[in-house]
Amino acid sequence: MTPGACSPLLDAMIEAVCLVDPKTLRIVAANQVLASLVGLPRDDFMGKPVVELTGSPEDLFFWEDVAAGLADHILSESLLRSSDGVAIPVERKVSRVWLTPTEPVFLVGLGDLRRQHHVEEQLENRMSELRATLESTGDGILVVNMTGAVRHYNRRFVELWNIPPDAMQANADVQLFAHLRACIKDERSYQDRLDAIAADPEMECTDVLLLRSGRMLERVTLPQISRSRVVGRVYSFRDLTERLDAQKRIEALAYTDVLTGLPNRLLLGQRVAVALRTAQRNGSTFALLFVDLDRFKNINDSLGHAFGDRVLIEAAARIQQALREVDTLCRVGGDEFIAFLQEADPIGAEIVARRILEKLAQPFVLDTVNFSLGCSIGVAMYPADGRTLDTLIQCADTAMFRVKERGRGNFRFYQPQMNVDLLSRVKMDHAMRLAMDHGLFRLHYQPQISLLDGSLLGVEALIRWRDAELGNVSPATFIPLAEESGFIINIGNWVMAEAVRQAMVWQVVGRPVIVSVNVSALQFQQGDFVERVAGAIREAGLDPTLLELELTESILIKDIHETLTRLHALAALGISLAIDDFGTGYSSLAYLKKFPISKLKIDRAFVMGLPEDEGDRAIVGATIAMARALKMAVVAEGVETDAQRDYLQGLQCEAFQGFLCSPGLAAQEFEALYATLPMGLSAT
Ligand code: C2E
Ligand code: MG
Ligand code: MG
Repeated sequence: MTPGACSPLLDAMIEAVCLVDPKTLRIVAANQVLASLVGLPRDDFMGKPVVELTGSPEDLFFWEDVAAGLADHILSESLLRSSDGVAIPVERKVSRVWLTPTEPVFLVGLGDLRRQHHVEEQLENRMSELRATLESTGDGILVVNMTGAVRHYNRRFVELWNIPPDAMQANADVQLFAHLRACIKDERSYQDRLDAIAADPEMECTDVLLLRSGRMLERVTLPQISRSRVVGRVYSFRDLTERLDAQKRIEALAYTDVLTGLPNRLLLGQRVAVALRTAQRNGSTFALLFVDLDRFKNINDSLGHAFGDRVLIEAAARIQQALREVDTLCRVGGDEFIAFLQEADPIGAEIVARRILEKLAQPFVLDTVNFSLGCSIGVAMYPADGRTLDTLIQCADTAMFRVKERGRGNFRFYQPQMNVDLLSRVKMDHAMRLAMDHGLFRLHYQPQISLLDGSLLGVEALIRWRDAELGNVSPATFIPLAEESGFIINIGNWVMAEAVRQAMVWQVVGRPVIVSVNVSALQFQQGDFVERVAGAIREAGLDPTLLELELTESILIKDIHETLTRLHALAALGISLAIDDFGTGYSSLAYLKKFPISKLKIDRAFVMGLPEDEGDRAIVGATIAMARALKMAVVAEGVETDAQRDYLQGLQCEAFQGFLCSPGLAAQEFEALYATLPMGLSAT
C-alpha cells in the first residue's frame, strides 16, 4: 500500500495526522484535520519537510535520530506552526508503521492542546485565587475531602494550632489530627463532636474549643459541596482569646473605679439588685454604709492630688479589711465609699461600722508625712429604711451628713425624722441660695477672752441661718456645701460687708471691737479678694486694725508665691491675719515663718481632751511654744470648762474662745455681755 492509498484511512481519523517518508523526512500524506488545523490546503503539505510542521529542538533532534536510524517514536508536547505564524500547542506522537513489510513510514499524529491548556490555566488561576483568599483571612482554615484527607490549609491554621512542620507534610494526616486532638482540653467531647460531624456529611456547626495552651478558638465547619454533592468539609478557626481578653478588660473598666480598683456604682447596683430579689424571697435584711473620709479635702488641698490619690487607695484598703468577703465596697465619689453588707442586721452593721472607724483612725504614714484621717459613717438598713438602692443610699448619706454635723469621726443609723429637718445636699444648696435672696443669714459674735485679765480681745463673726422650713442650719453643714458649689463666694462677700458694717457701728459708738472674719479658700483665691477687702474698709471708713481675717492652713500652702503676695498686701492695709483650726492642716513651721500672721487659733479638737489627754497636751504645748518663737499670739478654741481654761492659762496661752464664756451671740446680746466684761490692759 502506498502512502497515497492511505488517504481515506487518514481522513477517517479524528486527530490531525500525516505520513512522513523516513528517508527524505518529507510529508507524503496528510488528512483534512491537519490541513484545517494549520490553515493550508491539504495539497500544500505534500513534499513539505516535516520539521517545518513542528520545529522545536526536540523535533529537530528526533528527526535527525530517525535519519540516523537511532529513533523510531516519540510522544511529547510540541508547537505546531500555523499558516498565520501562530504557534499551536499540540501533543505530538510519532510512530513507525509498516505499510509493506519492507517499507516503513512515520505516522505523525497531532492533538490540539489549546483547549486543555486554557482549562488548565483557568484552574491554576482559580487555585491561586483560592490560595490568596485562604491566606488573606485572619481565620485558620482546613479543607478535607470525604475520606478526611487534608486538601488545603492556610498558614494561620498552622499558627493557631502551633502545628509542627512534620505534621503538615503530605501523608502526615494521622499525625496532624493526633496533634489537634492533643491540643484540646476536653479531648473526649471534641472527639464526640468530630464523630457526629463524620456521621452527618451535611452538618453545619459552630463550636468553641478550649485549648490546653489557654487559647480559645471558635470552630465553624461547613460541608464542601460540588455539583450538589458533598465532596469534603471546610473548617475555619477563629481566635477568641484576644477578643475575650479585651471584652473582660472593657467589662472590668465599666464596673470598677479606676483609682482604687474597687467596684463602682454600676456594679454595686447589680449586686444590690440580686440581694433585693433574694431578700424578697427569703425575708433577709442587708445594710448600706455610707463612708465619707473626714478632712480629706485638707489633705488634697495641702499635699496635692497625687498624694491624695494614694491616701484614697490606702483608705480603701483599710475599709476593705473591715468587711467580710461577701460584702462589696465601692467608691462613689472623691472620698465617699459605700459598703454593702450582705445579709446583715443592725448589730452586724454596727460592728462593721466600728471596725471601719477603728481602721481609719489609725495614723497614716505616707512618705515622711504622718497624719490621721478618720471618717464619718451613715448606715441604712433594708427594708426598714428603704426598698430601692437609691433610697437606701440617700438615707445612708443623710445619716452620714448628720455625723459630720455633729463633729465627725462617728457612725449613725438613719432615722426617719432626719429627712424632715435635713434635706439632700441638692435641696440644701437650693435652700441656701433662697436664704441669701431673702436675707435669712445673720452674723453672731463670739468673744475672744484674754487669759491674762479676762478682758475682751475681739470677736469672731459666725454666720447663722435660721430657715423657716429647716430650722437652724449649722454652718458646719452648709459652708462645706457652699464651698463645693462655689456659692461660698456670695456668702463670703455678704459676711465681709456685714462684719465691716457692724465693726463700724461699734467704732462709731466709741466701743471699738476687733472683728474676726472666716475666709474660705475659694474666696481667698478670687483675683479681686484683696481689692474687695480694701474697698469694704474704705467705703465704711473702718479703722483697719479692727478687722482680722481667719485663714485655714490649706489656703497658705497652696501656690505659696501668690499667697505671700496677697498676705503682704492685706497686712499692708493694716488688718491682722490669723490661722484658724491650727493643727488640722499639714502646714510646716518653715512655711508659717514666712507669713505676716499674728495669731494662731488652736482647733477645738485639741482643746477638748485637755487637761487629761496626753496627746492633746503635747500638741497644745508645742503649738504655744512654737507660736511664741514666731511671735504670734495663740487663741484656744472651744474652751468649755474651767479646767481647760486653767490649763491653758498655765501654758501662758494668750486667749480663749468658747462656751465657757459665751457662744456666738447676736450683736445686741453681745453688747450686753461686753458691758459686764473687765476692761483689758490695752483699753486702759
Ligand atoms: P470656726 O471658724 O472654727 O468657728 C468656731 C466654731 O466652734 C463655731 O461653730 C463656734 O460656734 C464653735 N464653738 C465655739 N466655742 C465652742 C465651744 O466651747 N464648744 C463647742 N462645741 N463649739 C464651740 P459654728 O459657728 O458652727 O461654725 C463652724 C464653722 O463654720 C467655723 O469654724 C467656720 O469654719 C465656719 N464658718 C462659720 N461662719 C463662717 C463664715 O462667715 N464664713 C466662712 N467661710 N466660714 C464660716
Ligand atoms: Mg473661725
Ligand atoms: Mg476654728
